[in-house]
Amino acid sequence: MENAIIIRYCEIHLKGKNRGFFEKLLKENIKKSLKDFEFTFTPMHSRYLIENFNESDYDLIIDKLHKIPGIHTYSRALVVESNIEKIFEAACVLCEGKVATFKVVTNRADKTFSPNSMETSMLLGARLLDKFGNNLTVDVKNPEFTVYVDIREDGKTFVYTELVHCISGMPVGSAGKGLLLVSGGIDSPVAGYMMAKRGMKIDCLHFHSYPYTGEAAKEKVIELTRKIGEYNGGINLWVISFTHIQEAIHQYCPEEFMITLMRRFMMRIAERLAKQQNDQAIITGESLGQVASQTIESITSSNSVVTMPVLRPLIAFDKIDIIDISRKIDTYETSILPYEDCCTVFLPKFPAIKPNLERVIKAESRLDVEGLIDEAFKNVEKYEL
Ligand code: ATP
Ligand code: MG
Repeated sequence: MENAIIIRYCEIHLKGKNRGFFEKLLKENIKKSLKDFEFTFTPMHSRYLIENFNESDYDLIIDKLHKIPGIHTYSRALVVESNIEKIFEAACVLCEGKVATFKVVTNRADKTFSPNSMETSMLLGARLLDKFGNNLTVDVKNPEFTVYVDIREDGKTFVYTELVHCISGMPVGSAGKGLLLVSGGIDSPVAGYMMAKRGMKIDCLHFHSYPYTGEAAKEKVIELTRKIGEYNGGINLWVISFTHIQEAIHQYCPEEFMITLMRRFMMRIAERLAKQQNDQAIITGESLGQVASQTIESITSSNSVVTMPVLRPLIAFDKIDIIDISRKIDTYETSILPYEDCCTVFLPKFPAIKPNLERVIKAESRLDVEGLIDEAFKNVEKYEL
């Protein structure tokens, strides 16, 4: 009796002629993510099989599978010869110690196997009841667990009881590349995770305002970015100093437009870096109405300085739902550590909530926009995480 992990995907089924491309990418992503472990990997019809792994690696392997976009479910299975006695033995191992209602579901890809699926389920169910009758009862409508018997064409059978849900989505790299504007807050890491989950390979850009923001704030962003990287097959983070730009805005422009103008600089810098890195979109963690800088008027103002698509996966999300996801992906505890973001430096008392674009452009005309951006690009740090 051997141990195996069956991995299944979902949306890739819908991919028609392109299906092979997605399957290959997911296969590569799984192998890359599990590169530190020993195992054999076999693509099967609509699923992958992991076998011959060290038992002591099992939990670590599962932890990795939970972070690979494109995987819908996995099952830990026993693999036996397609022989009713062997199948029964495996089913006994899985039922041992359980006190619950159950049923048996058989799927017979090997049509030469006898008895047929229905009969196999009934036979196994009856024998399991014989053996564990004090603890198990059959409930075919709403069982507490199911014994799945999957009779393959190659003379082997999987026996398992659980389908564990992973994150689903599409394989990273199947939907282009995007540059995430990442702060130390709750929202932007979640936005990055959501785009990676849809198959977009993520790069990250963070602005810091040393000495107004400290080393700890940067370390926090590095840690958050590393966590997003676990879903992204690794990640690159660029850190650009925003200090001189903020000082210039503070010195020459009306206070109410501080944040509006900062956002416009962030977008321009992001677009320039994105083009250099062949990223096809900018991603932010903005959510409509969450703060003054996220009204539709503010978004219009920052959007108008770039031509690249700006993706805002959280735009219609409530904070409470964003927090749920951030807990799930384990960024929440890091995100709520106290820190200063460059957006909190020179924060105006009364920021323009609905900035008038003409007035914003007029205010901005007091600055050497291109010169400030060129200067910012002279001081870029890159981290490969
Ligand atoms: P977050 O929780 O992501 O920090 P927030 O609610 O604090 O978001 P804002 O501070 O208005 O909202 O930022 C909106 C978006 O702008 C962020 O989600 C992020 O994409 C981007 N952003 C903000 N600060 C920075 C920064 N220092 N570097 C890079 N991007 C930033
Ligand atoms: Mg923030």
